[in-house]
Amino acid sequence: MIDCKKIWMNGSLVNHDEAKIHVLAHTLHYGSSFFEGIRAYETDKGPAIFRLDEHIERLFASCKIYRTEVPFSREEVKEAIFQVMKANELKSAYIRPLVYRGYNKLGVNPTTCPVEVMVAAWFWGAYLGEEAINSGINAMTSSWRRLAPNTMPTLAKAGGNYLGSQLIKMEALENGYDEGIALDYHGLVSEGSGENLFLVKDKVIYTPTLASSALLGITRDTVITIAKELNYEVREESIPRELLYIADEVFLTGTAAEVTPVASIDKIQIGNGDKPVTKEIQKYYFDVVKGVRILKEEWLTYVK
Ligand code: PMP
Repeated sequence: MIDCKKIWMNGSLVNHDEAKIHVLAHTLHYGSSFFEGIRAYETDKGPAIFRLDEHIERLFASCKIYRTEVPFSREEVKEAIFQVMKANELKSAYIRPLVYRGYNKLGVNPTTCPVEVMVAAWFWGAYLGEEAINSGINAMTSSWRRLAPNTMPTLAKAGGNYLGSQLIKMEALENGYDEGIALDYHGLVSEGSGENLFLVKDKVIYTPTLASSALLGITRDTVITIAKELNYEVREESIPRELLYIADEVFLTGTAAEVTPVASIDKIQIGNGDKPVTKEIQKYYFDVVKGVRILKEEWLTYVK
């Protein structure tokens, strides 16, 4: 069970056991939901939510793509997040706002169903494990591709998209790996099941372009900003699969996964096992999210 005593639902805080929806809700049948994963870290000045505005913007953007009007303002959703953080007395947290189509009629057309919103928050440690943050994970190239262009939009963080991610993740785990790396429709590198991907070769940092069906990750943007701050050249390019095998370093980024090194892909060791660039960026990242080092003041929202 997820340890969160109070959940915000459609305007008020409810107890964990009362935060329920109807089995005929549209979202359950047709995947009509849009969400965010946000982290708050413990800092000297209390809990700070990392890049809250960008997450709220992406949530509203996902809804816009799907012609979904959110019945609360951005400010109200932010306020809900603060309430949930406080009600659960969280010092650090993983925060999950979700916009979904509720219960009215059960046809494919979502527009007859009410748009509902919930926010939950709970403590969640390292997504791929504490060990992974230090030593790296073993990944495989997935036999499942990411969504093809003009099928399901990958720039929307929609619940339905995560069926593809589930196939990628389960295949990797079944085969004894920690994570799967998906190629896009054209066979170029896209991303992990829930993380963006970076590689380092000859001191240059590469990450796939958005045209490779990757999510416009907020951690991706943070890492690009940090890398440039550290004077690395960062290239957003199409990446052929085999460049992963001959890279000096590979790492994954995400709000949940933070900055996680990749030790091997398809049982091929990445580089010589040293990860100087990944470690440098990872340290900088943790310093920034924890307010130890201020890169952009507006990236931290302190819970009032
Ligand atoms: N790609 C996918 C498919 C994801 O689910 C996530 C996690 N939201 C990411 C990338 C990383 O995005 P972010 O850094 O904004 O968490």
